[in-house]
Amino acid sequence: KSIEFVTDIDETVPDHLYGDDMRIRQVLTNILSNAVKYTDSGSITLSLRGAGKYQAGEAAELVFAVRDSGIGIRKEELAKIFDKFERTDLERNNTVEGTGLGLAITQHLVERMGGSIFVESEYGKGSVFTILLPQRVVSAEPIGDFRAKLEKNAGAQHPDQRLFRAPQARILIVDDTRMNLSVAAGLLRETEICTDTAESGAAALRLCAENRYDLILLDQRMPVMDGTETLRRLRAQEHSASSGSPVICLTADALSGARERYLAEGFTDYLSKPINSHELMKLLMEYLPAEKLLPVSEPRSQTAPSAENDSLYAALREAGISVETGLGYCQKDGELYRLLLQEFVQGASEKRRDLQRYYDTQDAKNYGILVHSLKSASKTIGAAQLSELAAKLEKAADDEDRALLESGHPGLLELYDTLVRSVTEAFGNGMQPAATAGGDEILEFFPENCAP
Ligand code: ATP
Ligand code: MG
Repeated sequence: KSIEFVTDIDETVPDHLYGDDMRIRQVLTNILSNAVKYTDSGSITLSLRGAGKYQAGEAAELVFAVRDSGIGIRKEELAKIFDKFERTDLERNNTVEGTGLGLAITQHLVERMGGSIFVESEYGKGSVFTILLPQRVVSAEPIGDFRAKLEKNAGAQHPDQRLFRAPQARILIVDDTRMNLSVAAGLLRETEICTDTAESGAAALRLCAENRYDLILLDQRMPVMDGTETLRRLRAQEHSASSGSPVICLTADALSGARERYLAEGFTDYLSKPINSHELMKLLMEYLPAEKLLPVSEPRSQTAPSAENDSLYAALREAGISVETGLGYCQKDGELYRLLLQEFVQGASEKRRDLQRYYDTQDAKNYGILVHSLKSASKTIGAAQLSELAAKLEKAADDEDRALLESGHPGLLELYDTLVRSVTEAFGNGMQPAATAGGDEILEFFPENCAP
């Protein structure tokens, strides 16, 4: 209809209120869809103001208003429009579908929530529907710039639609932490890209010599041969199929300036870990050959949440894990999240033993590498506390700050143990047996998808 939609939200309205968001949504949807139905040109404005005390525990009064520049309602009919099955101006509205129940239901809902609704209108000019609704304030922190917030959330959210498929594309993911390989391969599954993985720089170089990769995702911090060294050797490889491929640096280094540094080292681009799928998709669209990016036809199948997941998630939350964060990193793929949690547990005893060994032998370099990978693994599953402690110890190892290591190491192990135990218990006996591929240095995912 080319009608402009404007929102005007008072920035001081409290951000966190207690109420029935579903019903409020239903009320606003009814009023807004009426506005669209009965307006042919001009604009519709949704505004929100607040009144009353903005104090936790107190009620604030929300004032919603929907203003349209539509056909308006005759004065003598205003009184009836909230009645059941009442529709006005039928000569004019004969092409507009409706049952005349929308406003009756809306008024009922508003009143059941302790509010009220009224209308002002000028026939031929437009209407304003106003809803007053008391809501208890949970925290008085203001909502702020609603539009900016909305945009930011939309960007951070993992798009429910897959953007493209690329069954002809082939990429290599290199990371010494198996869990990170699973995350990346899992996020890529829906793109149908053929994905190879390697757990060391040396393994990556062997694969690159034989295969032509459209893109390489290369972890920076790895033992023995780090990402920078791997990249240097890759570029120097003669007769290699992939020596000129774009290489994206994967790093948990959030420091400012990191990107510039990695670009200066010769990486094509940079992606921070844990990988945000939206960022990953953007990079793929930028660097994969355009002719390999195909449009998607059918919508993605969503894995339905199961009762099994509900009880798992409840137990994980009990253990202090943010399930929302973990699922966020898995593009809301519950199956992938389960897999990651299991890998987190299965890799734990070995990692714990190595951490203790490097600690005992005062091998700060390798201790740092291990604790770095623990930092990103725990962040990926939503275990923020462990991740933060690991980050502190990583810094201590980098600085060779023995005193800080000594004070922090026992607590780290304790927290790690507790977390592993809680996750194991959360699964009950629903945990899959350990992956048999344990000793393999190179894992190949989905080879059946590879283009010849
Ligand atoms: P439905 O129940 O399917 O929503 P409806 O829109 O006809 O059908 P109500 O939402 O209850 O029913 O609205 C009742 C009547 O009030 C409408 O038929 C219309 O004549 C009038 N009306 C409602 N909103 C507006 C508006 N924004 N501008 C002009 N007339 C309106
Ligand atoms: Mg209606």
